[in-house]
Amino acid sequence: MTLARRDYRELPEQYQRFWDEVSRFVPASSLARDPLRTLAYGTDASFYRLIPKIVIQVKTRSELARILRVAGQLAVPVTFRAAGTSLSGQAQTDSVLLVLAGGWRKHQIHDGGERITLEPGIIGAEANAILAAFGRKIGPDPASIGSCMIGGIAANNASGMCCGTAQNSYQTVDSMRLIFWDGSTLDTSDADSRRRFEVDHPEIIQGLSAIRDAIAADEQLSSRIREKYRIKNTTGYGLNSFIDYRDPIDILLHLMIGSEGTLAFIAEITYRTVPDYPHKASALVIFPDIANAARATQRLKGGPVSAVEMMDRASLRSVENKSGLPPYLKTLDPEACALLIETRAADPDSLAQQVTLAEACLAPIPKVFPVQFTAKKSDYEKLWDVRRGLFPAVGGARRIGTTVVIEDVAFPMHHLADATVELQRLFGRHGYPEGIIFGHALDGNLHFVFTQDFGTPHEVLRYEAFMNEVCQMVTGKYDGSLKGEHGTGRNMAPFVELEWGKKAYGLMKQIKALFDPHGLLNPGVVINENLRVHLENFKPLPSTHELIDKCIECGFCEVKCPSREITSTPRQRIVIRREIARLQKTGEAPARLRRLERDYRYWGEQTCATDGLCATACPVGIDTGQYTKLLREMGHGRAAAALAGEIGRHFGGTQKGVRAGLTALSGFHALLGTPAMAGLAKGGRALSGGKLPLWNPCMPTAAPALESAHGANQGDRQVVYFPSCIARTMGPAKGDPDQRAVFQGMLSILAKAGYAVLFPHSLGSLCCGMPFESKGFPEPARAKAKELELELWAQSDDGRLPVLCDTSPCAHHLRAAAGSRLSLYEPVEFIHRFLLDRLRFERQPETVAIHLTCSSMKMGLADKLEALAKACAEKVVVPAGVGCCGFAGDKGFTHPELNASALSRLRSTLPPSCHAGYSNSRSCEIGLSLHSGIPYQSIVSLVDRCSRPAGNSS
Ligand SMILES: Cc1cc2nc3c(=O)[nH]c(=O)nc-3n(C[C@H](O)[C@H](O)[C@H](O)COP(=O)(O)OP(=O)(O)OC[C@H]3O[C@@H](n4cnc5c(N)ncnc54)[C@H](O)[C@@H]3O)c2cc1C
Ligand code: SF4
Ligand code: SF4
Repeated sequence: MTLARRDYRELPEQYQRFWDEVSRFVPASSLARDPLRTLAYGTDASFYRLIPKIVIQVKTRSELARILRVAGQLAVPVTFRAAGTSLSGQAQTDSVLLVLAGGWRKHQIHDGGERITLEPGIIGAEANAILAAFGRKIGPDPASIGSCMIGGIAANNASGMCCGTAQNSYQTVDSMRLIFWDGSTLDTSDADSRRRFEVDHPEIIQGLSAIRDAIAADEQLSSRIREKYRIKNTTGYGLNSFIDYRDPIDILLHLMIGSEGTLAFIAEITYRTVPDYPHKASALVIFPDIANAARATQRLKGGPVSAVEMMDRASLRSVENKSGLPPYLKTLDPEACALLIETRAADPDSLAQQVTLAEACLAPIPKVFPVQFTAKKSDYEKLWDVRRGLFPAVGGARRIGTTVVIEDVAFPMHHLADATVELQRLFGRHGYPEGIIFGHALDGNLHFVFTQDFGTPHEVLRYEAFMNEVCQMVTGKYDGSLKGEHGTGRNMAPFVELEWGKKAYGLMKQIKALFDPHGLLNPGVVINENLRVHLENFKPLPSTHELIDKCIECGFCEVKCPSREITSTPRQRIVIRREIARLQKTGEAPARLRRLERDYRYWGEQTCATDGLCATACPVGIDTGQYTKLLREMGHGRAAAALAGEIGRHFGGTQKGVRAGLTALSGFHALLGTPAMAGLAKGGRALSGGKLPLWNPCMPTAAPALESAHGANQGDRQVVYFPSCIARTMGPAKGDPDQRAVFQGMLSILAKAGYAVLFPHSLGSLCCGMPFESKGFPEPARAKAKELELELWAQSDDGRLPVLCDTSPCAHHLRAAAGSRLSLYEPVEFIHRFLLDRLRFERQPETVAIHLTCSSMKMGLADKLEALAKACAEKVVVPAGVGCCGFAGDKGFTHPELNASALSRLRSTLPPSCHAGYSNSRSCEIGLSLHSGIPYQSIVSLVDRCSRPAGNSS
């Protein structure tokens, strides 16, 4: 959807000229200045709120260079945006936001995985997935690696539990391709490019050389810089570049790390990778107090451990009631402190030796319980759940309207215990009883998390007083870092001089001026003369609805969302609903409110697939799809609700109508051929103003009537089989290799396995209720689910017999609606559980693709689906980066752009040898076929084709 002219917001003159200039080469669909998108894209994970005047989704390097040139000419500041998970306010602006949209995802492997070149839009975890085949990974490992992008990782010098100061971006960067404020470029790996840059930018080369020489001549400053980078430090610019490197371009390359988009744009980065050892063991060790935990950390430093995470007593208390965590957490003394220790090795023998060494290190230190390492994945994952649960525990328990603040300081190791105790005292003195302290103890890096209301001047004063004391304590008393890994941003910009001193701060200002002489690259970040900038522009978090109020706007859900590249992400939906709620409450800006409400219908509500995958990545468990369903429900008038109820009550008739419609459509398709039919359908949809569902060539034919299959199977075992209403209605598409309906394939498999089949009575009128629920009709949804559950209960002999449903979303929905009364399975599970010993698989010499539906993902069926496909075909492809397909029942017809966007990468990930795909939801398979170029059918079809009855060799 592009913006019409009337949608434009008035812009200051300079911005209007900027808009006009960039409109000459940036497609209109990539430009936004409307209230909804500027707010949605403007938000990052910090507790600050700036709303950009213009948002541009930038797709290519040349486009970015041209935009920078225009910005330079018109003196318009710009800010780069990767995934927006930054916490210190560095990824937002009230000027122009340049978003790395869609593209920027190319990579190249070098030297058998020893190095990797990455574009900045690749998610950190995706880079590691690429490197996994080589047993390697990138060095930086922020906890947000599943969501944040390479551009943000490098520009923040982000790090995590294992990488310490030895494997962060600064230490592992090999080269970069950069674009500067004036649009000029530099590839630091290319000798010609370096030479050209030296000739074209003598002021930068000379300026960097002069700073380098000044530092070298000042012994006190040199040793201070060295000292400060022994622990993690992301406050200010990386002055260690001037000590560690001599060549100005090498200095420049390393200065870019942690520069937070204030010096240049990182268009490509090559990392030297690090080994990813497969064998791991962990132990949760409880010490009587912080001092002993700190002594233990010092003994482990330099030892065979990859991570040592400290958690104070308040941290442990915040998660002690979570299910699956060790019960002894509740019984610990108030002074207790824990270390979660991990060691990794290339093979089991080395791992065992390392565990012995780590135990020896800990032997002399008093502990509450004996040390117990475990190498069993399920056990050590439980221990790491303690650590992973800390931030969400505080975030989830906070009072609505308050913000969860996570701070990030680092101390020289010998001060760790004293500093932790002092932080605890500060929490007490300033009234933060919920505050917890945890962190990467090996690097002296502590996070402290607390909740803060920014809604009243009194509360802001309290925060200010607390942070002032923290900053004085960290820098004055312990000479620590105010930011260990989250970047300076706006949050610590007023304190950079406090931490580094006048001289070093002066050099940082010189660096900024060298690279950005007019102050246009992310101004106000890292360097800011406003000493109160950290107390301005707080983000409002008004109470909106209990389903979304706990959202901390971290952005972790965004990667999961099928609509993220065409309309909104879950976080953006919540941000907009919060603003709508705020405007409704305050009565402010009624025109803006009306505009947001109107635009949200398409950008937020209509293009939400309600698949709920966002909840699987959300640290506080928010399912934005659930909230969308609620909005849909609230948007229905009485007549619509009554009609939905009628359809539910006469479902058999509706289903017959749909089958008749599909028969008619396939008749037309056969008559007219695909091109004419597609043209006709497009024309009809255009004439209806987008209201008519869009026909596509992968549209199913009508399924044959099921009645003919009743009672077909005989066998020594029984199953109650519920073919979903989708499977009963939709048959194969014209040209699909298997021209049977799903239930015909399923019955064939069951017959081979010797299963007698019982169908529920009145099958034609039964439905799990999901189509009603996803459209916001909870009443008929509940009624249909109940009706089906009662039928299945009766037919399964009060739950004694297993029940099979052939469509995974329906099985998932029914399981949620009916609870555990029924032993309910979808095909992959059922075949695994009951049929493997009754079938003989004959693996075919072919390549097949599989697609895991959202419901299968939520039911944890990924491995089982892959295993089943591997039993049938020699090569199985699981396309990388393809999540929810966005078909969402019927959205593929009503909002086909959602499906197209969600599957835009599918075709290119399939090898030429792959001619067929398999999944377990008929409607998803329509979109998958359409956007992959190969037919997708039910996994049932593949299993039926590749299996024989066990014991029968014919
Ligand atoms: C719950 C939670 C946990 C976190 N845990 C950690 C952690 O363990 N360790 C850690 O270090 N951080 C952590 N973070 C902070 C954040 O996730 C990381 O710093 C991350 O690397 C930011 O990446 P991003 O893609 O979100 O970048 P963004 O937030 O979009 O941008 C970060 C900065 O980089 C600049 N930038 C982006 N792309 C480019 C580019 N191509 N060229 C130049 N500049 C660019 C932006 O202008 C901005 O200043 C956490 C955040 C959250 C919400
Ligand atoms: S919905 Fe959850 S994952 Fe998404 S931004 Fe909010 S808290 Fe983070
Ligand atoms: S339910 Fe799906 S489409 Fe809707 S916000 Fe969540 S992930 Fe996005």
